[in-house]
Amino acid sequence: MYCLQALKIIMTTVIPKIEQLSSRVWRILGCNPGPYTLQGTNVYLVGTGQKRILIDTGDADKPEYIQNLKDTIKTQQTGIQQILITHYHHDHVGGIADVCNALDLGSTVSVSKLPRNPPQEESIESTSKSYNYLQDGEVLKTDGATLRAVYTPGHTDDHMVLVLEEEQAVFTGDCILGEGTAVFEDLFTYMKSLEKLVSLKPQKLYPGHGPVIDDAVPKVQMYIDHRNMRERQIMEVLSGNTDKWMTPMDMVKIIYVDVPEHLHIAAAGNVDHHLTKLEKEKKIVRRDDGGTVQWKKSSL
Ligand SMILES: [Zn+2]
Repeated sequence: MYCLQALKIIMTTVIPKIEQLSSRVWRILGCNPGPYTLQGTNVYLVGTGQKRILIDTGDADKPEYIQNLKDTIKTQQTGIQQILITHYHHDHVGGIADVCNALDLGSTVSVSKLPRNPPQEESIESTSKSYNYLQDGEVLKTDGATLRAVYTPGHTDDHMVLVLEEEQAVFTGDCILGEGTAVFEDLFTYMKSLEKLVSLKPQKLYPGHGPVIDDAVPKVQMYIDHRNMRERQIMEVLSGNTDKWMTPMDMVKIIYVDVPEHLHIAAAGNVDHHLTKLEKEKKIVRRDDGGTVQWKKSSL
């Protein structure tokens, strides 16, 4: 329970609905607050020219956000050159049709993202547009801004961050959030993506949710340390019980001893992600005992 309280306390930074963050970056809030989106999705307008790049589009049916986006574009006397999408989640792609309709974006304005992995067909809801697929490392330019796509899977299988070369900044999508810690589909690839983020040596992070992060590398390192601490605890439990096979719940009862029992199922899901990663690294082995998956430290 204390975890939830801690989360509430740190989720207090108020983000204005429209804000200029640098000479080439504006942030428009998606107006879709929720437990997983903090105050909502951050939509970024990037560049200095008469046509700029939009990063992510927020969720569908958020008229206040669409109006704010229209107002920003009008006051900046600019338009949209192209739309870039960090990953397929609805709070990032859901607004594509509304943005295209409200700004009257014709077929020349592309909507680009990395493909799903493994590949699968994707359509954009309520529009005749289809995705233009980018490649890892591809560079996208607009007046005043150079963006480089970097494949960073883990939160989702198609996730990319965008390096803004002029500011040594990174648009992190949901790989790193402005507050709290992110959820992920695959911890093994997620951790590799966090390491990749550190290697980019960013000065500043523009996250998909929450405020701008100025202490960029320490923040990413904090994410890495948090996950490594949990992993160490799991390995300690398995190392101390080499004579038996254990379920995630067996481990939860030892590691999450201070957490109330009704949260143990959620904690077991978390442990499960770590176990899958440790198995990929060949540090532990699994067996299926009549439908119950159990784990043990590898004897290698
Ligand atoms: Zn997401």
